[in-house]
Amino acid sequence: MTNPVRVRFAPSPTGRPHVGGIRTAMFNWLMARHYGGRFILRIEDTDVTRKVEGAVADIMEGLRWLGLDWDEGPEAGGDYGPYVQSQRLTLYQAAARRLVSQGDAYYCYCSPKRLEEMRAEQARRKQPPGYDRHCRELSEPERAQKTADGIKPVVRFKMPLEGDITHDDVIYGKVTFDLSTLDDFVLLKSDDYPTYHLANVVDDHAMEISHVIRGEEWISSTPRHLLIYRALGYQPPQYVHHPLILGPDHAKLSKRHGDVSILEFRENGYLPETMFNFIALIGWSLDDKTELLTRQQLIDNFSLERIGKTAAIFNREKLDWMNGVYIRRLSPEDFVQRSLPFLDKGLPAGIKRPLPTEYVRQIMPLIQERARTMAEVAELTEFFFVAQLDYDANLLVGKNLTQESASQALEMAQKRLGQLAVFATESLEILLRPLAVELGLKTGQLFGTLRVATTGRTIAPPLFDTMAVLGKERCLRRIEAALDSLHKLSSGNPSH
Ligand code: GLU
Repeated sequence: MTNPVRVRFAPSPTGRPHVGGIRTAMFNWLMARHYGGRFILRIEDTDVTRKVEGAVADIMEGLRWLGLDWDEGPEAGGDYGPYVQSQRLTLYQAAARRLVSQGDAYYCYCSPKRLEEMRAEQARRKQPPGYDRHCRELSEPERAQKTADGIKPVVRFKMPLEGDITHDDVIYGKVTFDLSTLDDFVLLKSDDYPTYHLANVVDDHAMEISHVIRGEEWISSTPRHLLIYRALGYQPPQYVHHPLILGPDHAKLSKRHGDVSILEFRENGYLPETMFNFIALIGWSLDDKTELLTRQQLIDNFSLERIGKTAAIFNREKLDWMNGVYIRRLSPEDFVQRSLPFLDKGLPAGIKRPLPTEYVRQIMPLIQERARTMAEVAELTEFFFVAQLDYDANLLVGKNLTQESASQALEMAQKRLGQLAVFATESLEILLRPLAVELGLKTGQLFGTLRVATTGRTIAPPLFDTMAVLGKERCLRRIEAALDSLHKLSSGNPSH
């Protein structure tokens, strides 16, 4: 690499940060970190009609959450700022003026109404859409008249009428466009705001961007950009267009496939470690088999050449699997700390806050193996926190048990547990296994009933561990309540 690597992520603040855009940011970031270059964040906000309040903050939040730190850009500063296009308008206006004075661009006075009629006419005649170059050859007096009439013009690029233009894309190879199919596109709008094309080129040049790594949807813009570079006498960057992310149905990944914003994945309990690893491997691979890679491994091994040429599918099952792996890899204390906000949000409002951290510390190891997302931790542990369990008393009467035998088992267990001095996993096991034999039950029968009585569920973490964490008092209270509801069942007065 001869020039220093300077790459940019240039989002338009039009909504919450989509994983597709975040993947583009990640490729740029990995490129910068691999080559010891600079990663720049530039906000392309010149399309006022599509601007969404709060979108810039969301984009920065998403990037920060994933650890995609930018060396230059909003809040980071840098020598090439400002990094927000709406603060750089004079640069684009100057470039547009220069292109007009050189004869590479011209003022167009066509009204929106005329353009609309033109489009309708083109559609009627089944002609390709595009500006008909009505103002391309206006004379000086004609122009003066329009100005005198108070019409605010746009600036259009004077597209060569024939020929073609080729660029060597790092991923797609040689890509050629026939210029006769391109129209005289707008550079500067009548409100003096630039279009994406003009602002993008002016800034990539001004910010000395070495590689433009962006989604394939921009490849058709590239010939326009190259012509602007040529007209301004600038050296274009290296272009790297990467394929898009598709849903399982091979349509562009969108809302109807489920979550798409990186912030939604965060809210739904995916770890940033997971998302980083997972997104980096959508359409990029180390060796077609390694799935789990650390941030450092990804930096060390990143290369543009390994980005695939075909669209990549977003595989949610793989994401869930990977999140489970990363959750299990957390240290117990880290798991606790990351669980706390999800518990706070997910547990019923009736449970007292702040949650008792020491108790949470005892609970969380019991579910760390089972959680696939952090959002699940509330559901998985709710029974530890509630004052009263709410379940169908029939569940207490397991297979081949009767209400009497279930009651009897619970009564015995209650009595013995009450006498137990040390309420711990091992002592519970030593007490309860023989009790099953004594009652003439299979261990599964006794434990099943006890599980429902103490947790309200038929599926829960290992019973003795769970009971030990719940503690003697809570367990006895719950067994008492279970006996009560069994009693109500048999007296034909179901609790539900
Ligand atoms: N503002 C464009 C976007 O929203 C940038 C495209 C590019 O990287 O050139 O993706």
